[in-house]
Amino acid sequence: MKTLIVKTKTKNYPIFIGKNILTKFKKYQKKYLNNSSKVLIISTNKIPKKYFNNLKKNIRKMSIHTLILPDGERIKENFYLIKITDLLSKHNFNRNDCIIALGGGVIGDLSGYAASVYKRGLKFIQIPTTLLSQVDSAVGGKTGINNKYGKNIIGSFYQPNFVLIDTETLNTLSKREIYAGFAEILKYSLILDKRFFNWLNINGNKILKNKSEKIITTAIYTSCILKSKVVRKDEFESNYRAILNFGHTFAHALETVTNYTKKVIHGEAVLIGMMLASRLSNHLGYLKKNDLYDIKSLYEKLKLNFKYKKFVSSKNMNNIFKIMLNDKKSIGKKTKIILLKKIGQSFIKETTLKSSFIPLIKKDVKHGNY
Ligand code: NAD
Ligand code: MG
Repeated sequence: MKTLIVKTKTKNYPIFIGKNILTKFKKYQKKYLNNSSKVLIISTNKIPKKYFNNLKKNIRKMSIHTLILPDGERIKENFYLIKITDLLSKHNFNRNDCIIALGGGVIGDLSGYAASVYKRGLKFIQIPTTLLSQVDSAVGGKTGINNKYGKNIIGSFYQPNFVLIDTETLNTLSKREIYAGFAEILKYSLILDKRFFNWLNINGNKILKNKSEKIITTAIYTSCILKSKVVRKDEFESNYRAILNFGHTFAHALETVTNYTKKVIHGEAVLIGMMLASRLSNHLGYLKKNDLYDIKSLYEKLKLNFKYKKFVSSKNMNNIFKIMLNDKKSIGKKTKIILLKKIGQSFIKETTLKSSFIPLIKKDVKHGNY
């Protein structure tokens, strides 16, 4: 079992990581929820029932309410927010009571947002069950829902009271979702920590195959530490936190042209985006050839896809550029892009897409091997 404390301006809270720690919920309840008398567990119908039962069995002396929602990104929506807050009102939840999010990032984002706005904030526990949510969305306090204009348009910064990461839940997760989570793990190493990159080079396969409890715990723990350090420096993303968007400008464009379908899931798009951003860092003269070579070798060794021919052609190329220009990080024609100086060292550059990504993508499309 590993524990780390996330320190932010608004709250300090622990993250507990370990196998089967869901069954020890009562221990954490006693320490962190001693004046809550009601709990609402929010989950989806696709999360295996056993996690839900394990949790429920281990809650003491609180009246337990549950809300099982449909699966998928579409529940990050106003309709479901109202459903949650109505239920809380109906059962007279007050600010000492709590919401537990049991599921992936979708459940975490929606439940966290509901927790932040209901009576201006009640207690909130994250129990992330996908690798991506364990290393990314459950850490750092961003919550939110979508509207018809875009993703995470309505949201808040709201830190949880604690996070329980039960690595046992990864055993039922699909291989694709494991790769998607790995993308964010690799991201932390590329932007912040060369030693972690070297460690992933050696241990990546064991993470992807979910072969070693110890290694997967270390990977999650290190990722949470790296992300929490960034969050601590810049909780509300005034600038520095944007380095976490490494690889994401292109990734979001790929997700948008494929209409956020299963054609490409977020982590897969991030893997593609990070390779493009690494190549761009090299083209622009920041990242040395050797470092780019090492990144490519890791991708090849771990069989991580970085080809994007399937999604971008000479026909839809301009549409992709338009989407990238409309990215949240753009102000007028200028946009903030995240580049690497070295493996483990990133920086934010304010530039135009015309002098950064666009020529590189055009060249790729022209030469056909991308
Ligand atoms: P998700 O929540 O949709 O989960 C992916 C799939 O895995 C779902 O079908 C889910 O039912 C299933 N699943 C979850 N746990 C499982 C388990 N243990 N066993 C079997 N199946 C399981 O997707 P995600 O990748 O976890 O999260 C994506 C969401 O997170 C997006 O909405 C994104 O915007 C958000 N996000 C938020 C932040 C943040 O900082 N708040 C960061 C990154 C991503
Ligand atoms: Mg991401």
